[in-house]
Amino acid sequence: MKNWHENCNGVWWLGNVKVVDPEAGRVFAGAVKVEGGRIAELREGDAPNGETVLDGEGLHLAPGLIDLHVHLREPGFEEKETVATGSRAAARGGVTTLCSMPNTQPICDDGSKVAFIRARAAEAGLCRVLPVGAVTKASTGDELADLGEMLENGAVAFSDDGVPVKSAVMMRHAMELCRTWDALIMSHAE
Ligand SMILES: [Zn+2]
Repeated sequence: MKNWHENCNGVWWLGNVKVVDPEAGRVFAGAVKVEGGRIAELREGDAPNGETVLDGEGLHLAPGLIDLHVHLREPGFEEKETVATGSRAAARGGVTTLCSMPNTQPICDDGSKVAFIRARAAEAGLCRVLPVGAVTKASTGDELADLGEMLENGAVAFSDDGVPVKSAVMMRHAMELCRTWDALIMSHAE
């Protein structure tokens, strides 16, 4: 197989793959034409003769996957995972978008921490990292975090991840706020 990067420009085919086409609701053995870095054609069976073809035998080709619950561990637990290593693992597995959980150290519970994760993700440059902010400060359940500020800095949703928000009043308050912004809460219910 040729180096992928040598083939990123121009016209080439990825052949002999199982094409996953969610729009059409089917999976088929086929080939995909790439032109200028974009998909130009899907076809069943082999790529046409005489074209540059990368052999994708044994592989599935799907739109980038989205992982809604990822622990990137940075900051605080870099010995386990960083934004860069988690992004690399995701990209390797076909995941192009991931939602990072806030249970880092410190907990991702304000705008600057959301911005930090996004900056790290941009440095890694491998996939779209959408930070999930904490619902409550330090995820203790005692005081609502600044959800608005986190939204402004790119948080995609809110969760106290490993612990459920312990008070129904607090959760209701958070949900009412989120409704006004059309924002999302991902509750870790136990
Ligand atoms: Zn989790």
